[in-house]
Amino acid sequence: MSVALVTGAASGIGAAIVGRLRRDGWNVMSVDLRGEVDLHVDLTTREGNAEAVAAARERYGLLDAVIPNAGFQHVAPVEEFPEDRWDALIALLLTSPFLLARYSWPDLRASPRGRFCVIASVHAIVASPYKAAYISAKHGVLGLVKTLALEGAADEISVSAVCPAYVRTPLVENQIADQAKAHGLPEERVLEEVILAPHAVKKLIEPAQVAATVAFLLSEDGAAFTGAPVIMDQGWSAR
Ligand code: NAD
Repeated sequence: MSVALVTGAASGIGAAIVGRLRRDGWNVMSVDLRGEVDLHVDLTTREGNAEAVAAARERYGLLDAVIPNAGFQHVAPVEEFPEDRWDALIALLLTSPFLLARYSWPDLRASPRGRFCVIASVHAIVASPYKAAYISAKHGVLGLVKTLALEGAADEISVSAVCPAYVRTPLVENQIADQAKAHGLPEERVLEEVILAPHAVKKLIEPAQVAATVAFLLSEDGAAFTGAPVIMDQGWSAR
């Protein structure tokens, strides 16, 4: 049976991915800072990332797929952006995927169908104001995905980046108050006028839709998406 490591597994997209993969027959090592998961680790640290890979290896003896998904957001204009939040966002959204790749690469190489599938964002492709750290990290992780795809090609490790627009999760719900403050709008107008404004289709994406995309990318038919952003953005980047 195949084994996947999913980070940020306690909530939102990560929880949906764990549920979907388990229903599809995968063994999953779920990790998060908190919540109902197999392992609690802080993925902004080197030790946390090493422990996550080691735990999967120890429990199952092998690892076929890694899905770096853990994340958070911080919304602030650049001149007020807290420097510690910049460091933490780069550590979690960019350095953690790098460390997970570094530590899991021998396992992915040994797997008959190695997969490294980052949950990036449409913000790996386009920018929005007040999200300097998140957008810089997401653009960076797309560079990592392209590099790993080239390095993994000879061993048939397929590396991809799922790039959704806004998904119905706590990460988005928690932004509403901050966005209201930054844009000077009442909270009830933020979802339609700020959050969904760049979507051509004015709907949040459901976590299950992202999980289904990951399940496909992890399947045999998903292999050819290596090195590419898989954009699911309700028409945002079509403009
Ligand atoms: P979420 O807040 O529901 O879940 C994120 C999880 O990451 C949480 O369970 C949290 O505890 C965990 N986490 C945070 N810091 C951690 C740390 N230091 N170590 C370990 N775990 C940590 O968020 P979500 O919306 O499900 O986001 C998941 C991923 O999808 C993120 O990378 C996010 O950038 C990306 N994404 C989300 C959206 C969206 O609209 N929700 C859109 C595009 C991309």
